[in-house]
Amino acid sequence: MNPEEFAHRVLVNVARHIKDGKDLEQKEIVARIMQEEFQPQDPRYAEWLERVEKRVNWLLSDPEGDYPLLARFLQQTGEDALEDKPWDELCPTGAIYQDESGKWLVYPELCIGCQLCVDHCIADAIIHHSEFATVALLIMERSEHPVYAIVAPSFVGQFGPAVTPEKFKTALRSLGFADVLEVALAADVITRQEAEEFVRRMHQGDPFMITSCCCPVFIKLVEKIRPKIAHLVSLTVSPMIALGQMLKQREPDCKVVFIGPCLAKKTEARNYQPNGPVDCVLTYKELKALLEAAEVSLEITAGEEMLEDASRDGRRYAHIRGVTTAICNAVRQIAPDLEIKPVYGDGIRECSRLLKELEEGVLEANFMEGMGCLHGCIGGPGTLLPPEQAFQEVEAHAAGACVRRAFDNQKASRWAAGRF
Ligand code: SF4
Ligand code: SF4
Repeated sequence: MNPEEFAHRVLVNVARHIKDGKDLEQKEIVARIMQEEFQPQDPRYAEWLERVEKRVNWLLSDPEGDYPLLARFLQQTGEDALEDKPWDELCPTGAIYQDESGKWLVYPELCIGCQLCVDHCIADAIIHHSEFATVALLIMERSEHPVYAIVAPSFVGQFGPAVTPEKFKTALRSLGFADVLEVALAADVITRQEAEEFVRRMHQGDPFMITSCCCPVFIKLVEKIRPKIAHLVSLTVSPMIALGQMLKQREPDCKVVFIGPCLAKKTEARNYQPNGPVDCVLTYKELKALLEAAEVSLEITAGEEMLEDASRDGRRYAHIRGVTTAICNAVRQIAPDLEIKPVYGDGIRECSRLLKELEEGVLEANFMEGMGCLHGCIGGPGTLLPPEQAFQEVEAHAAGACVRRAFDNQKASRWAAGRF
């Protein structure tokens, strides 16, 4: 079983256990997983048992403690756990180090949550925190509070070509979510706010604005590695947080689950806890396990509920340059004479280079978008589809939007004004 399959099977079994109404007793869950997935005569049985125990413990443990670290080493590991570079070379900020005893550790103050270490570990030795069990429990207790799914713009096509956005929405409603909303709706709200902020900043003589729209990894990179230019970051919250805030304003007792490609969003949501705008974050991979455990099929779901929350530009936030395009269009609408000269960083290394140039005063631009993952969120670690294919899917969904630009989205206008 490869690490990806292993992680999936553990999640499916934990969700089944919760669905069956059993107590979250770790020993019982581990025994169930071992019985379902492994043969006692397997020569690696004891090794699998240890790995299952560690993973279940991490899945069900309270994330207090070593947060904001997203990832932690589950076991003593060597360089052979990696696909290519050694751990300390792999980390773009130098957050990974080896102590005197040879143990690999992470400096929290340098870690930006990019997850490159998790992605490149082929030994399943490093793991990210999951709120999977909490989401399964929230859904089980939905009679006490409505649970909303808010889906990142990159969701389109992630579950196969037959799973249209409408089928996807219907399936999530069958799973128990009270409703499903596109985070791109809030992207439209934030595009407008950032465009207005950009115009204001330029008129008051600021030389530059960095978008804070999407990517918590990019923002952490600015704050932790280039703090001297952190004041150039826009004051807006991310679309995920904005949509959670609007939903909680509308229904203070509701629960909000963000579903997306991103592991770093888990920390972003956590920074607003307790009782923040977003209660939990799930990746597409985790959602897939939840659907499998609940036996909800995405492909044969009867009925199709329309998903019509966002503009074309809002839906394009899913890929690199999407934020730039949306904000440039919005700035041109409200200040046609103002010149916006954008640059964008595709992936953490490109972002680092551009930020260095910005700090040194040699960057020919006045606006910057940065995405921690190559290709933007369609290249995120929790995705299921190759980014090139995901790009086509996102573009097709964007082309089908009722309106083209953020300022044309009436629903975004109403929600931003608190009229739901
Ligand atoms: S998440 Fe990124 S910054 Fe943090 S330790 Fe891993 S590679 Fe380094
Ligand atoms: S670019 Fe990557 S790290 Fe940044 S928000 Fe998207 S998925 Fe998350």
